[in-house]
Amino acid sequence: RAKQAGKGTYMLYGQNMQQYFDERVIIEKHLREAIDNNELSLQYQPKVTLPNGELWGFEALIRWNSPVLGFVSPLSFIGIAEDCRLIIPIGEWVLRKACLFLAGLHRQGLGPYHISVNISVIQLLMDDFAETVLKILRETGLNPRYLELEITESIIMESFEEISIKLEYLKQQGIGIALDDFGTGYSSLSYLKQLPITTLKIDKSFIDGLPGEGSSMPLAGSIVAIGHDMGLIVTAEGVETKEQLEFLRRVNCDKVQGYYISRPIAEGQVQAWTRQYARQMINVEKC
Ligand code: C2E
Ligand code: MG
Ligand code: MG
Ligand code: MG
Repeated sequence: RAKQAGKGTYMLYGQNMQQYFDERVIIEKHLREAIDNNELSLQYQPKVTLPNGELWGFEALIRWNSPVLGFVSPLSFIGIAEDCRLIIPIGEWVLRKACLFLAGLHRQGLGPYHISVNISVIQLLMDDFAETVLKILRETGLNPRYLELEITESIIMESFEEISIKLEYLKQQGIGIALDDFGTGYSSLSYLKQLPITTLKIDKSFIDGLPGEGSSMPLAGSIVAIGHDMGLIVTAEGVETKEQLEFLRRVNCDKVQGYYISRPIAEGQVQAWTRQYARQMINVEKC
């Protein structure tokens, strides 16, 4: 999973291969008990729609606080969880927890907001994946239209047919399907056209340099146009500055997410943040 190590985040392992493997074994060992020991939690990062900055919902992001290892980044453990298939119970836990949380917000009269959940290819390849998703929606009482699954481009090419059929089915139930980290994988535009997705999520690497200099259109602007041509909603991740947000609004990007709006928020703080945001539309509307 070297690719996941390349996201610019400091990895747990250091210099050599032996150390790398040792640390994988240690992570796997502790991860096995993480669910039962209540070491996993979710943070929620707001997503807002443009042009007005209305709160659309949140992306659920997993956090692991190990009593032995401390806080371990998902960039360090998701790949390992995939390799040892622990991602299946962990992924199901994430989905249930996120849907429960959102259904709870709705019951308290907030929203209705959407929830985006990251899904691993290992989960998608399970025969009962679609059933599991629908079962969790029933159990938690969340309407499918408020759930969005985020999948990454690199994974899909492996089993295009099988995955397309499942995603199409879920999409027909009203669930949104977002292609995460778009632009970093290898899929061609013709594949993109065949994929049953509703949303393109432009990778942060295309947002970092915005708005850029000179007269040429930055790639992010072209991606928005291509996405719209294909009838897709386009989201930008990793929006950190006012200038980036202004650019994205100018090119009609539909949704943004990033530190400029808010960092991921602990579950207990979401309500307060949401009420506060509704009062002020911090940063977004006024810029
Ligand atoms: P992702 O799905 O692309 O999520 C976006 C990552 O960028 C998150 O990192 C988020 O905290 C971070 N981020 C958001 N806005 C900004 C910004 O403005 N600037 C910067 N520098 N970073 C920003 P995080 O939470 O560490 O997650 C990393 C990756 O781990 C995720 O990338 C996703 O691929 C994976 N992941 C996280 N939670 C889950 C999960 O529940 N299941 C699965 N399968 N993967 C997960
Ligand atoms: Mg994501
Ligand atoms: Mg992403
Ligand atoms: Mg990304």
